[in-house]
Amino acid sequence: MTATSLIDPSTGAPFTAVDFADVEDTDAAVARAVTAQRGWARLSPADRAAGLRSFALAVDGAVEELAQLEARNSGHPISQARWEAGHVRDVLHYYAAAPERLAGSQIPVAGGLDITFHEPIGVVGVITPWNFPMTIASWAFAPALAAGNAVVLKPAEWTPLTSLRLAEIGVAAGLPEHLLQVVPGLGSVVGDRLVTHPDVRKIVFTGSTATGKLIAARAADQLKRVTLELGGKSANIIFADSDLERAAATAPSGVFENAGQDCCARSRILVERRVFDRFLELLEPAVTAVIVGDPFDPATEMGPLVSREHLAKVSGYVPDDSAVAFRGSAPSGDGFWFAPTVLTPARTDRAFREEIFGPVVSVVPFDDEADAIALANATDYGLSGSIWTRDLSRAVRVSRAVESGNLSVNSHSSVRFSTPFGGFKQSGLGRELGPDAPLSFTETKNVFFAIDDAPI
Ligand code: NAD
Repeated sequence: MTATSLIDPSTGAPFTAVDFADVEDTDAAVARAVTAQRGWARLSPADRAAGLRSFALAVDGAVEELAQLEARNSGHPISQARWEAGHVRDVLHYYAAAPERLAGSQIPVAGGLDITFHEPIGVVGVITPWNFPMTIASWAFAPALAAGNAVVLKPAEWTPLTSLRLAEIGVAAGLPEHLLQVVPGLGSVVGDRLVTHPDVRKIVFTGSTATGKLIAARAADQLKRVTLELGGKSANIIFADSDLERAAATAPSGVFENAGQDCCARSRILVERRVFDRFLELLEPAVTAVIVGDPFDPATEMGPLVSREHLAKVSGYVPDDSAVAFRGSAPSGDGFWFAPTVLTPARTDRAFREEIFGPVVSVVPFDDEADAIALANATDYGLSGSIWTRDLSRAVRVSRAVESGNLSVNSHSSVRFSTPFGGFKQSGLGRELGPDAPLSFTETKNVFFAIDDAPI
């Protein structure tokens, strides 16, 4: 264990320290998880459901505490952090119904009885990013536990606090000891050990596409099951026939929420050429109205970036004002502040093509529907996106043609825990959330029972 300082993103100053684990600590956690999982899987489905319900109720009682912790550790505006903690509670409630519904099937065959079972995979390693530490963790651990697995969770280096607290809350609520363990540490140490440990049977990874590819390669040796939730460069396509005022008024929330540190951020706004100038006129007051500041002020809509390193990365995409159309405001001084920034770059510019993961949006014109679709798809990513139009036929055509896992029409909604979430192309592999998520934490077993006089 090595003590590592955590930095408050709104001040740039250290505020606490956390012990980072090494390979031996990780192995010990996996060994404890193997034992815990056996006991958990032997419980009745009703008892597992009751355990998850108690966990959900305990999280409900800790919403304010978790929100305060996230605001300090990650710089999330407190109103958003409260929503996130409530979301974890809701995800747990939703998957608490799953243990008693995870039914196999009986398939008609000759000479006997054929039954499929959905058996837990065993120990699941969950590796999370720093942008939404507790919600993303819950998308994996809630359905994994519901399906009878144990979880060893490695949070991102910068933001481990809410995950650590959630595991404590789970035990206090009556979950078996070591069923949900949080092991903070470096990705290259703890994360890699989870990926290569033979007793970890599945990895759920959320993070950058580059790390996702590395993990897929490292997991291949054992043919370990992997679910990957990776990067994005989503398009917000605005047709001239849309409610332009509404599209412009809501566009900032579609990209600047969580300071743009959102895999679903609509960081490319594509606007039909004949309303391009009008759209920018409408967008400017909406952008300058975004309230950026102290995460603990209830009025704050956007906080700081997560770290000094990330601030340097985001700033590198806006080296000068040549492509800047306009900006909002942000506090000056200590802390990792970056104002909401609108660019009107060329289609070939790096800022238009690469995931920035900060409050920087590119607005680019398109000529017609075919051009809009081609431009939206001209990326290796395919996670999210929006389509604004009043023409229903066009909404259907374009939403079917855009290569993306999650689209919304006349809205910026991306995630509902009751619907599937995940990416096309290099935005990921597999899906999380929705009713089928627990199945992705099981192995399907088929058993044929011969009747007495059937030929063998
Ligand atoms: P990252 O890939 O740098 O790190 C993610 C996690 O992987 C961290 O916990 C890190 O410690 C760990 N890690 C790093 N190297 C590792 C290795 N060799 N082996 C095992 N684990 C390792 O990503 P980040 O900067 O924390 O997060 C930002 C990225 O996450 C963005 O690209 C964003 O789009 C993506 N993201 C995707 C989703 C989604 O659902 N698709 C959601 C949130 C964030």
